[in-house]
Amino acid sequence: MTLIRGGLVVDGTGAPARRADVLVDDERIAAIGAVPKAPPGAAVIDATGAVVAPGFIDAHTHDDVAALDGVNLAKLTQGITTVVVGNCGFSLAPWTPSLRRPTPPEPLGILGGPERFTYPDFASYLAALGPDGVALCGHSSLRALRVADLGRPASPDELAAMVVDLETALDSGCAGLSAGLAYPAAIAASTEEVTALARVAFRRGKAFAIHLRNEYDGVWDALDEAFSIARSALPGSPEPGARLVLSHQKCAGLRQRGRAGELLERIERAARELPVSFDAYPYEAGSTMLEAESVRASSRVLVTWSEPHPELAGLELAEAAERLGLDERAALEALKPGGGAYFHMDEADVDAILAHPLCMVGSDGLPADAVPHPRLYGAFPRYLSRMVREKGLLGLEEAVRKVTSLPAAVFSLGSKGLLRVGADADVVVFDPERFRDRADWREPRRYCEGIRAALRRGTLERLPGG
Ligand SMILES: [Zn+2]
Repeated sequence: MTLIRGGLVVDGTGAPARRADVLVDDERIAAIGAVPKAPPGAAVIDATGAVVAPGFIDAHTHDDVAALDGVNLAKLTQGITTVVVGNCGFSLAPWTPSLRRPTPPEPLGILGGPERFTYPDFASYLAALGPDGVALCGHSSLRALRVADLGRPASPDELAAMVVDLETALDSGCAGLSAGLAYPAAIAASTEEVTALARVAFRRGKAFAIHLRNEYDGVWDALDEAFSIARSALPGSPEPGARLVLSHQKCAGLRQRGRAGELLERIERAARELPVSFDAYPYEAGSTMLEAESVRASSRVLVTWSEPHPELAGLELAEAAERLGLDERAALEALKPGGGAYFHMDEADVDAILAHPLCMVGSDGLPADAVPHPRLYGAFPRYLSRMVREKGLLGLEEAVRKVTSLPAAVFSLGSKGLLRVGADADVVVFDPERFRDRADWREPRRYCEGIRAALRRGTLERLPGG
């Protein structure tokens, strides 16, 4: 048993915070209120001056490998007790190297080397992930498994095989489907192909998360494509879990700057007829593989990893080009396969998107990168400190709701995301004045500060320095 005493309880519903004790028994929350005397043998956490909230849910991650490798301190120190993996169309399962494809095609390699792809079916991956794993099945992974030529849409036979794979994955506990239509493995996929798969997920009351086909000047058509997929794929009376999730929403590139209002208005209009949510991260830079369109849209590019030139990771693309004695265009090709961080957003757009009531927070960090975007270690404290304490754009209760009960509802995680009696005892205790990110571009792997305690299913986790 654990008694968390004297904290300010923010329960995840958005209701006003109140001072209360929280008693955890085994894996569940046993009591919330005044618990004047700790039960015999109970550990006591002094939460005076601290906020006690449901463990945060990271709605958009690429922690597919990290979630298998034991306690994930990069996330736990941010107060994150649940991560959603398998985003942007790529998941570790169901894919393994074969004679036809001995190495993972781009972008699957973002997750790690071929040796990490050892799950021929989703059930074996979920078993490795453990009972709290929340994983989406990636459309690009299905394509890599079934489609002979990734440069074209799936044939009817290939699509039929993908449908069966997805049904099997969903029936074994997979949380939904994801797609990343901007990526090489999926860019040739037709809207109909994606619709057929989204239909499978929606019929089972599960989510479909989409990284839009274009996030720059083509974003408006790409949004329409996502809405039309959802419109055609949704059954007449969809179950609550059937939901379109727009991944990492942003206004990226010079011509899109200042258009967050327009973007949100479009999403709101769609949300009147479709179940829609989205996620975002609190930074003005994005990060993905090295590719020309992202470079063109950016004022500055950092190399986050490079297979042929690992020694150049961490440099600006311009510097890397100079070291290679090439112009930037040729350097970009010479550095591939690799990743980049792209500075292409405005602060006001990022704030407006993050403040929206339908917006969850997704760190979108890339743990396998040599020099990762600092969002991997800092997104959640940065979101809370920036939106609540520094800018006053959200009240604490609403900010917490958007990272707890909202993603729990979107991904049907019924027993998580709320502090109430009987719920899973995923709890974070943080100091509201000190909670902040410390990871930056120079030192992207610094833990944040201000977390006092984190419990997952009632187990008190050991934190660095604690
Ligand atoms: Zn993505």
